[in-house]
Amino acid sequence: MKNWVLASFNPDKVKEILALMPDGFSIQLLGSFPNAIEPVENGLTLEENAEIKSLYASQLTGLPALADDTGLSVDALGGSPGVFSARYAGEPSNSKANIRKLLDALDIHENRKAHFETVICLTGIPTGTVFLKGKLHGSIAREPIGAGGFGYDPIFIPEGSSRSLAEYSKEEKNSISHRGLAIRAFLQWLKQNAIN
Ligand code: IMP
Repeated sequence: MKNWVLASFNPDKVKEILALMPDGFSIQLLGSFPNAIEPVENGLTLEENAEIKSLYASQLTGLPALADDTGLSVDALGGSPGVFSARYAGEPSNSKANIRKLLDALDIHENRKAHFETVICLTGIPTGTVFLKGKLHGSIAREPIGAGGFGYDPIFIPEGSSRSLAEYSKEEKNSISHRGLAIRAFLQWLKQNAIN
């Protein structure tokens, strides 16, 4: 099981995921297959959305598939935007508008604690569907800062840090991030299942 398909159309996420894949491991992007479309993410949880994307990819290609879904949950907003993080400020998804809406919604709140969560779903494998997760705790800044990363990175300050995730290098972000943790859990899973 060395050839996988990655069910993501988000180039920023793809870069982060590919950076952690070991040598000799081949993972093709879903978008490189003829007839592949971006599946509609209409699940109500990160798990449901990750499974929708992963199943679509494994069924279309016949390969084992990996999909991730990520959300930012803000404590003072009851966990919002959560699974609706991508389209928090409406369609089409726009990170600047999402950030503005979140900062406005948090304006009256003292508690700025939040966390990112990534759920990875593996399908098309002999063991049946597998979920792997990673979380990063932190807080929401007053204003965006930093030019790196993507999405909500400019307003997310990891616990114990004074910098936003957009001020981290790619390697630094991957070493602590929700997605980095979930991908490392996947690498561990590959080892334990002796199929790498
Ligand atoms: P999805 O997993 O592509 O559905 O992402 C949901 C939303 O969270 C999108 O608005 C992304 O830009 C944002 N997002 C996903 N991963 C990250 C991250 O690592 N940092 C900041 N924002 C992210």
